[in-house]
Amino acid sequence: MIPMNYLAREASADYLKTGYWSRRSLQDPLLFGAVHLAWDGEPSGFTCLPTQADLDLDPEASYFHYILNETVEGLQFHSIPGMDGVPRFCDMSSDSLSRPLPVERFDLIYAHAQKNIGPAGLIIVLIRHSQIERQLRQVPSMLDYRNHRNAHSIFNTPPTFAIYATLLVLRWLEGDVGGLEPMAARNERKADLVYRAIDTSHGFYRGHAVPENRSLMNVCFNLANKSLEHKFLREAASHGLLGLSGHRSIGGIRASLYNAVSESSCQQLAAFMAEFQARHPSTPTSADAP
Ligand SMILES: *Cc1c(COP(=O)(O)O)cnc(C)c1O
Repeated sequence: MIPMNYLAREASADYLKTGYWSRRSLQDPLLFGAVHLAWDGEPSGFTCLPTQADLDLDPEASYFHYILNETVEGLQFHSIPGMDGVPRFCDMSSDSLSRPLPVERFDLIYAHAQKNIGPAGLIIVLIRHSQIERQLRQVPSMLDYRNHRNAHSIFNTPPTFAIYATLLVLRWLEGDVGGLEPMAARNERKADLVYRAIDTSHGFYRGHAVPENRSLMNVCFNLANKSLEHKFLREAASHGLLGLSGHRSIGGIRASLYNAVSESSCQQLAAFMAEFQARHPSTPTSADAP
């Protein structure tokens, strides 16, 4: 919908290629206009994110698009890239409502519900009125943001159950957790438990992301001895630690620590990691292998 509504045939939009999901965001814009890659993390294996100085930004770009948290690789921006004067568009699907964010610095934010907010089927879009008026071309009515705005988000019948469940989650977040500041503090403590288990393992576990771009939501790592990963996953499952396999595109291990995951689950995972390592003391690491 973004390029269909806001990218003209003769114009170009700036995109960051920082991982699996942003790579997928690069295809559809080509149906409508041109894409300029302001940074490409593929040569470095999607293990880090750019700093502002690394970006090749076009001041004439129709908009600047990036993904706040690369869910598959476990990379998260901890500062806001882009340039003033170019509308900033962002996919926040995998870390929305996980921490406070200066929304006033964005022109369009979108996030599906199913990772931090509620059941699948719902997508939340925050869009600036001035942006909505920049509509370029006639598009099918369902794909025109103005129709959704004008109809107060009931242009069609929305997924009412997903919206109701989201209401309950938001009440929990505000009332029980206490809002986004305590949620962020909780998420930092959770991620810290798992990253500490990696960092104190003397290389037995190896984090995918460079430390400065580590995601608080998705902790992605490998075992130095990759042949042990299957056993790790199987034994973790027998301890009730489920859903730890990495995304099929990169494999390895991924601990997703979305808002709903408790601190005690993270403690149990960290304890299991230490205990599993202790049971495999003399395992040669791949770095030691000839
Ligand atoms: C999971 C994910 C998606 C895909 O969402 P769908 O609702 O399955 O299309 C897109 N972007 C990010 C950042 C994601 O984490």
